[in-house]
Amino acid sequence: MRYQKLKGMVDILPGESEHWQYLESIAQKVFNNYQYHEIRTPLLEQYDVFARSSGDSSDIVSKEMYDFEDKGHRHVALRPEGTAGVVRAYVENKLFGPDHIHPYKVWYKGPMFRYERPQSGRQRQFHQIGVEALGSDSPAIDVETIAMASDFLHELGLTNYKVVINTLGDQQTRSAYHQALLDYLMPLKEQLSADSKERLTKNPLRILDSKDSQDQEIVAHAPSILDYLTPAAQEHFEQVQQLLAALEIDYEIDANMVRGLDYYNHTIFEIMMTSPAFGNKEMTLIAGGRYNGLVAELGGPEVAGVGFGMGVERLLLVLKQQQDNLPAPNYPDIYLVAVDQSSSLEVSKLLAQLRKVGISAERDYLDKKVKGQFKQADRMHAKFTLAIGEQELKEHKAQLKRMQDGQQVEVDLTKISDLITKVQEG
Ligand code: ATP
Ligand code: MG
Repeated sequence: MRYQKLKGMVDILPGESEHWQYLESIAQKVFNNYQYHEIRTPLLEQYDVFARSSGDSSDIVSKEMYDFEDKGHRHVALRPEGTAGVVRAYVENKLFGPDHIHPYKVWYKGPMFRYERPQSGRQRQFHQIGVEALGSDSPAIDVETIAMASDFLHELGLTNYKVVINTLGDQQTRSAYHQALLDYLMPLKEQLSADSKERLTKNPLRILDSKDSQDQEIVAHAPSILDYLTPAAQEHFEQVQQLLAALEIDYEIDANMVRGLDYYNHTIFEIMMTSPAFGNKEMTLIAGGRYNGLVAELGGPEVAGVGFGMGVERLLLVLKQQQDNLPAPNYPDIYLVAVDQSSSLEVSKLLAQLRKVGISAERDYLDKKVKGQFKQADRMHAKFTLAIGEQELKEHKAQLKRMQDGQQVEVDLTKISDLITKVQEG
């Protein structure tokens, strides 16, 4: 029997995992500056948490969920996205209460699961980093999330991205627009794709998001939601734009942009980028928006919410395209070479001392000859080597060799601080 990983699942191996750690550390740093705190919710939830929040007619719920009955006959599902679990936790832990700071601002990272057809950039287990701010209606917090997303990309050294915004308005806007869209699309029904014909009765707004080219042509002439905004929705959208301008964040408005999930209203946004990583096509890196109905939908009070999510795999594809933006790999600062059996113990002791002060140090564990150990140090890109044998131990002196240029300096083995300083100086 040869075991293989499941279709659409990926191993993230050393060499690659460092990139993930780097990206996650930047997220943590930027989000901390904005006072968002990390939340970790279960990967497995009641099926209804997702069905309720994403909407039964969404692709995620109707086609892509990993759901099953557990041994206790509960209908459960692996999370397909992060927001529903966060909102479930918010309601269940009564985080809307007076003991907590509002808006309640969190971020998360981790695997998501969708049973899709795997292809480049599309997996069945993939990863998202996301943020949610719960408990504020203010357009300022919509803009804060956009600014934070943009800062995050900047910190990663990415600049050639585009912020696109739209509004889905409030309930009243949505129903008025829904009708206008139906009036426009109904006579064109026979020209729509099979999927969109179905959407026509279930959720016509989703047709705006269709990937079918014929649908897209029809959609291009559809009425604009911006003509159906209530005064309140209009005001909210205008304030968002004023604030974006004040923060000098460039943006475009795309009146046809909608979200795949049912719970969004008011501001929605995407950050897009064209990169050779995507065959020079434009791709969405970060997508988010406001979802004022969701907390109540999941059994909580009428509390507003706004957030975004990003696909980590997609972001890493872009970063790898621009290698300069990725950090140097984690090479050892020093490799200790044990010249003979008798010095092995001393090498281990020295190794422990160096590691204790934060120096990344390595040695041989395969009984390699001296030559083999140096070869290994080279292969690992060790910055320095230090060979220790009987003679070095007797004289309490050894030669610290800088691998890059072969330069050697003598270190006093009775004074570990001497060695530490020289290694740290590089
Ligand atoms: P798409 O239209 O590409 O299917 P989506 O609307 O389903 O995207 P969201 O639910 O908004 O995507 O998820 C946010 C991000 O998560 C996407 O922009 C993408 O980067 C990433 N993502 C979504 N599904 C997958 C997947 N199956 N594999 C890898 N990344 C994914
Ligand atoms: Mg999808």
